[in-house]
Amino acid sequence: MATRKCPFCKEKVKEDAMLCKHCKNELPPLPPKKWYQTWWGLLLVLFGLMIIANAFGLKTNQKTETPEDIAAKQTDIDSIDARSWAKIYVEKSLKAPTTAKWPSGADFGVGQYKDKKGKVVKDVWEVSGYVDAQNSFGAMIRTQWYVKLKKIGNSWILLEIKS
Ligand SMILES: [Zn+2]
Repeated sequence: MATRKCPFCKEKVKEDAMLCKHCKNELPPLPPKKWYQTWWGLLLVLFGLMIIANAFGLKTNQKTETPEDIAAKQTDIDSIDARSWAKIYVEKSLKAPTTAKWPSGADFGVGQYKDKKGKVVKDVWEVSGYVDAQNSFGAMIRTQWYVKLKKIGNSWILLEIKS
């Protein structure tokens, strides 16, 4: 409990006492506290600061991207690129590329190439799927294909193609 000085005898008395226990004088009433002198006032100020901090983009609590997150993102990008490049190489192998009808991307099999021990080989991808295109006799035929690619910088080189 907070105390104050009795204005008559200068002794310490309880802050909310109405009579001084030392000199028995009637104590003047306490002035009402200003809003900023209360706990509620303090909370209000803190709350206000938090809103301002947020508005100014001080992202103190933001989750930072881990190297795993970044790697996963890159893998997603690579899988899309692998599909696009596989299409390019398969198209080159077709007799009549302009007649090619491709399945939707979802019908492509795509994955990182694994060695015999089942270990992922960095930047090597396997893509498989089918394409409908005219053969040299003008007949529309469906070809199953498999492509193995390696990413080098921004380009993808063909390692193997089977159809
Ligand atoms: Zn007193």
